[in-house]
Amino acid sequence: MTTTSRPTWQHDDCPTWCISEHAEHDTVADRVHDSSGSYLTVVAEDPVQHTEDEVLVFLATFRKVGSTEDWIHLSTPDDGQMSLTLSLESAARLSRVLTERVAIARSSMTAAGAR
Ligand SMILES: [Zn+2]
Repeated sequence: MTTTSRPTWQHDDCPTWCISEHAEHDTVADRVHDSSGSYLTVVAEDPVQHTEDEVLVFLATFRKVGSTEDWIHLSTPDDGQMSLTLSLESAARLSRVLTERVAIARSSMTAAGAR
């Protein structure tokens, strides 16, 4: 969030979530507003081995400097098996569908338990 000593190439303000320290010598590829990252451990099943394992998931938001489009990046940094960079609209749709599927699965568990 360096708005006081902004590099000459940066013509936009940092989003409120940006933690980048933008510098004059940043390469074009590094001219990105980055959020802090979130790490969470999830339980995932290996679809081939059918074994459960804890998997570390990393999430962060970024925006190319000069753009108005934000992106949400998800990855599994420990094994590099998964990496997705989603538009905000896609991330919102994925979140909604996941929430719906969890609700459906939980309701069927409740119904099965009530029998
Ligand atoms: Zn920034």
